[in-house]
Amino acid sequence: MKVSEILANSQKAYPSIEIVPPLRGITKNELLESIAPFMEFSPKYINVTSHRDEYEFRQEEDGTFSRHLLRNRINETTVCAAIMSRYDVEVVPHLICGGSTAEEIESRLDNLEFLGISNIVALRGDSMTGEKRFTATPGGYRYASELVEGIRKYQGSPGYQRKRKIEKENGNEQSDRYFCIGVGAYPEKHFEAPNIETDILNLKKKVDAGADYIITQMFFDNQVYYDFVDRCRAAGIDIPIIPGLKPISTARQIAMLPESFSLDIPVELTEAIGKAGDDRKAVYDIGTEWCIMQCRDLIRKGVPAVHFYTMGKSENITRILRECF
Ligand code: FAD
Repeated sequence: MKVSEILANSQKAYPSIEIVPPLRGITKNELLESIAPFMEFSPKYINVTSHRDEYEFRQEEDGTFSRHLLRNRINETTVCAAIMSRYDVEVVPHLICGGSTAEEIESRLDNLEFLGISNIVALRGDSMTGEKRFTATPGGYRYASELVEGIRKYQGSPGYQRKRKIEKENGNEQSDRYFCIGVGAYPEKHFEAPNIETDILNLKKKVDAGADYIITQMFFDNQVYYDFVDRCRAAGIDIPIIPGLKPISTARQIAMLPESFSLDIPVELTEAIGKAGDDRKAVYDIGTEWCIMQCRDLIRKGVPAVHFYTMGKSENITRILRECF
């Protein structure tokens, strides 16, 4: 089922789970076991992030440069196929502009359609390590809005087109949109945007290009999300905006998350974690409790779903799900 249909038919808020594909070396069984704790909550779908391979150039003794693969993850489509082989759950692969031409992206869409996957989150992706700004691949997309446009032009395989023709002939034509598309948004502004107003205008371009719903970057103060939703509505963005949450699990994240994701952490949370000092369990509990508080408040205020950035952790997320859903 498409996420847009799930959102339209859902009577109450549901949890949306995002996982990161494993680095090569992890077996399929290990991956599936790591997801098992979430299955207790019958998630409606699982998002799988997408990552570019990272390379480094090393100078050889003869002065030439050679390219070395530093880090590569199992790709999102393969992870989705593995999840579908074990669990009866929808999967939502992320698709990024970075590193691919438009043609290569089209061929990935063919692979997704072949697997029966009709949900995608379309993103630009970040710059490569060592690059100051994101650089589009020649023949690729510069912005997520262009990617959304490209996905909307996708006609589907001959098999899919035949199916649509038969539906049309029988008078039960389904939507001509094969893919349901989610896009990202930043309640505290994307770090490259000059101001929040411009960023929201750019978000509107993704909506106008055909996005079905929005998932926000993580935030730690719900008021930031509520204000952002108000601004989006005022700008004419009327599709669902799913809030994204991540529980803090280590003291280091108090410095690392603002730097990596360009967001604020409230003083109260920063001080509580500061007071816990080296007590790792206390820090973990404070981060989890804060997220429970945020999640309960969002549900009370009527959000359609809450998206969780699990980042390889399941214990804190399952605790939150048990408390809130
Ligand atoms: P865009 O919407 O293209 O925006 C990027 C910047 O360009 C913004 O500053 C925007 O204001 C500006 N902009 C947009 N359109 C225009 C235009 N037409 N003219 C001028 N400026 C414009 N990264 C990954 O690598 N893999 C993932 O799986 C992944 N999953 C994510 C999931 C979510 C829910 C979110 C919120 C982020 C995710 N990211 C992921 C991170 C994301 O790729 C980065 O934040 C990236 O820097 C921006 O992606 P975007 O799709 O929001 O880009």
